[in-house]
Amino acid sequence: MRSIDIRRTFFDYFGQRDHHLVPSGSLIPDDPTLLLTNAGMVPFKPYFSGERVPEHPRAMSLQKCARTVDIDNVGHTTRHATFFEMAGNFSFGDFFKPEAIAWAYELVTEGYQLDRERLWVTVFRDDDEAISLWRRLGVPAERIQRLDMADNYWSMGVPGPCGPCSEIFYDRGDSYGRDGGPAVNSERFLEIWNLVFMQYERGAGDGKDSFPILGELPAKNIDTGMGIDRMALILQDARYICETDLVAPTMHRLQEITGEEYSTLPPKQQVSYRVITDHVRSAAFLVADGVLPSNEGRGYVLRRLLRRAVRHARLLGVEQPILDDLTGSVIGNLGDVWPELVGQRSLIGKVVTREEDTFDRTLRQGTKLLDTAIKQSRIGGALPAETAFELHDTYGFPIDLTVEIAADAGLDLDRDRFAQLMDEQRRQAKAARADLTPGLVKLDVYREIAGRHGRTAFIGYDDLAGEAT
Ligand code: ATP
Ligand code: MG
Ligand code: MG
Ligand code: MG
Repeated sequence: MRSIDIRRTFFDYFGQRDHHLVPSGSLIPDDPTLLLTNAGMVPFKPYFSGERVPEHPRAMSLQKCARTVDIDNVGHTTRHATFFEMAGNFSFGDFFKPEAIAWAYELVTEGYQLDRERLWVTVFRDDDEAISLWRRLGVPAERIQRLDMADNYWSMGVPGPCGPCSEIFYDRGDSYGRDGGPAVNSERFLEIWNLVFMQYERGAGDGKDSFPILGELPAKNIDTGMGIDRMALILQDARYICETDLVAPTMHRLQEITGEEYSTLPPKQQVSYRVITDHVRSAAFLVADGVLPSNEGRGYVLRRLLRRAVRHARLLGVEQPILDDLTGSVIGNLGDVWPELVGQRSLIGKVVTREEDTFDRTLRQGTKLLDTAIKQSRIGGALPAETAFELHDTYGFPIDLTVEIAADAGLDLDRDRFAQLMDEQRRQAKAARADLTPGLVKLDVYREIAGRHGRTAFIGYDDLAGEAT
């Protein structure tokens, strides 16, 4: 089944059950506590917290999601992407557990025709109600696992709604490793759908895994999220997300550029293909939603993705610029479903080209510095934090890129020392700014700089991505 039909099947199913389609929210959330939209429920938070009342008590959405926590997984696990599409259905004080479970199971087994024998579910350890609902649908007890708070409990804010969840998994077979269900092997037992039952109100406690339950919520809610990319893995019999039709055209284009065939390459180079194709998809979507590369916040996430993609391309021996070309293939592939990609095509091209250009200039010099430092360090030893700091400060190497390169050479990095150097620099920059209190500007300083370098033209009005790197 192609991804277009995976999406359609979902929305036909829940549309017939009176769910109203709500358009995807932006990747930039309307929520100061969150860097990027990372789940389908994010735009619905005010309905769950009771701040706003929805027009209709049942909703469904196809939400663009970005997860920085999965950056390091990409290329290595088969199932993680930094950008993915989450389809979800929601109830705001309307239907609850029995319907949420029965509908998800019916859609998975009849709509998507997944083999019942390969399905597993997990529930929160005390949630006997969920277990009996799954059992009634015919899921055998041996394929239901009880998991702890860390895995199967959800909460938002203090005080705020919380509740157990239940997840559906698909067994991809023994070529993905050992048996034992989702609690044991999350690559073989692929998580496809998370059903959250918002049922209680939580109080303050010491963290995610232990807090008091204050009572039942006046209205119970349902929040579910099914990964389109995960469903495509199964229905297209693909091992990695980059092999599904969501990413395949970009893989195809990258192979044209390198002149090599991905499947015949050694594992390490295959990782680079997966990293590059994943990161350009995320980058295209981030820019389309208004994120620009910078040194902090979500701009820094974008920068990391772009720079990591460039480095992996150079590792594959591709010396010419590729980001414009590859984001172009993302737009070509997904532009029908996500018209904002098409609308922002020229901005995306400009931003990624500029970033690649800036980074390329320093990549070579930085790599030289890093290579020397690596040669001077003992295998199994550590790369000096000062080198990592210089790479960051002078060459714009995101720290995780340096860590990754050092790890490839068998070296550790003293993260604490690095953080200390960053802190010192921040303090110095702050002190320098404090000297320039408005009204007391030290003109002689400016005159001295102008004398040395001449006047500077401000190009920021025409040049969007032109901030300092
Ligand atoms: P996993 O345990 O596999 O990392 P998760 O428990 O972090 O997944 P949820 O937060 O429950 O995922 O998100 C709901 C659904 O979104 C998942 O069941 C899965 O189908 C999909 N999903 C989550 N993370 C990713 C990702 N990085 N790439 C693609 N799909 C994802
Ligand atoms: Mg995860
Ligand atoms: Mg999980
Ligand atoms: Mg989950």
